[in-house]
Amino acid sequence: MAPHSRFLPARPIICGMTATPAASILSFEEARHLVEEHAFRLRPKGRELLSLLDAVGRILAESIHADRDFPPFPRATRDGYAVRAEDFEKLPVELEVIAEIRAGADSSLVPPVGPSKAVAIMTGAAVPDGADAVVMLEHTSRSKERLRVDRSVARGENIVPRGAEARRGERVLSPGTRLDHAAIAVAASVGRSRVVVHAKPRVAILSTGDEVVDIDVPPEPYQIRNSNSYSLGAQVQATGGDPVLLPVAADEPERLRELLHEGLECDLLLITGGVSMGKYDLVEQVLTELGSEFVFTGALIQPGKPVVFGRVPYVAGTSEAKRVDVQAQGAPAKYFFGLPGNPVSTMVTFELFARPVLEALAGSLPRKLLFTRAKLKSPIRTKIGLKRFLPAVLSGEFEQCEVELVRWQGSGDIASVVRSHCYAVIPPDRELIEAGEWISVILRT
Ligand code: AMP
Ligand code: MG
Repeated sequence: MAPHSRFLPARPIICGMTATPAASILSFEEARHLVEEHAFRLRPKGRELLSLLDAVGRILAESIHADRDFPPFPRATRDGYAVRAEDFEKLPVELEVIAEIRAGADSSLVPPVGPSKAVAIMTGAAVPDGADAVVMLEHTSRSKERLRVDRSVARGENIVPRGAEARRGERVLSPGTRLDHAAIAVAASVGRSRVVVHAKPRVAILSTGDEVVDIDVPPEPYQIRNSNSYSLGAQVQATGGDPVLLPVAADEPERLRELLHEGLECDLLLITGGVSMGKYDLVEQVLTELGSEFVFTGALIQPGKPVVFGRVPYVAGTSEAKRVDVQAQGAPAKYFFGLPGNPVSTMVTFELFARPVLEALAGSLPRKLLFTRAKLKSPIRTKIGLKRFLPAVLSGEFEQCEVELVRWQGSGDIASVVRSHCYAVIPPDRELIEAGEWISVILRT
């Protein structure tokens, strides 16, 4: 089904009151698929030229080509002797060593390897003309210029032919590649000291809640400090975005609307808190008033069930978001996530849903959520109905990876996440998972 056909229309305004959207609570998999489909259509904005090490972690916005063959010469991969394989029909073989070539030496200065001749060669050196194999030093014995070998060697052994890794002009890095250490090495190897990368998307972060105060303000006994804007800021940075922290919004529609407008100047809007069922949970109401289209208004997960994803119409340069048809092709709109305010819910729902949208805006090629498997150390009992993503610790030796839930006080317990390495994934249809069962985990990045 096309994703837009599942959009929920914004509810009509009745007697000056705006109703919240009809609930569309999806399974985890349905919600994730919809996010991926929307992310797939997003394109990054802007580019910049950066020096290579400043570009680490950024997304490449150009193709990079080999400036010559790789390797540029037939390269020896072992210390030993460059030989002719045809000399090895009968063993043992006696050869005459006529020269030596080391890495960095010009092979045209070395005499060609004729029948029954050998050239001593070092790893990384160019194999001289005439030779078609390198016999490892360990398989030889030498006395002065006489070399004895009692193992056969095949044509091409211990040589990487010229151009085997890439031919001159071939594309070695594609746009959308994340510049990790390996991609940086490839760019360096073709002589690129500067590369064109996508500009970082700006991500507005808006925490809401009457009880939430900024971290510089001494909180009253009944207030709590705003940690969500900072955990999200960190996750946004780590995903290649540029976080823009807005002031905390009180649970009051006017102020919320004002700050949402401010946030819409950015490429993506992350709101935390105010998406549950409480009397003062106003985020969906205000987004509805702004003409938003909701892709979903909840997912059957824990933590994070009230998570909301949608698009809000936006026309640049206006202080008021103009009413435009968000479903129209190419209509100006910005994506938003309403993440539940419980700090662990905020972190988990960012990872599960917001990350792919941000990656797409950053220019990254789409990536699937990666699961790995680990053996459960202690049994887990849960209620059925929700897929759970619970902070857990990994241990065990080598491939025998074991996992255990950390003790926690529920989705407000940030310290439990700090003590964890991953989220253990508990299926929605199991009341009891026994110790020793293999379960899925998502590594925490
Ligand atoms: P809410 O989703 O608004 O119902 O909030 C759920 C819980 O998360 C409440 O206990 C809030 O106090 C807490 N909370 C909401 N926003 C934040 C925030 N920005 N930082 C830390 N805790 C928060
Ligand atoms: Mg709240």
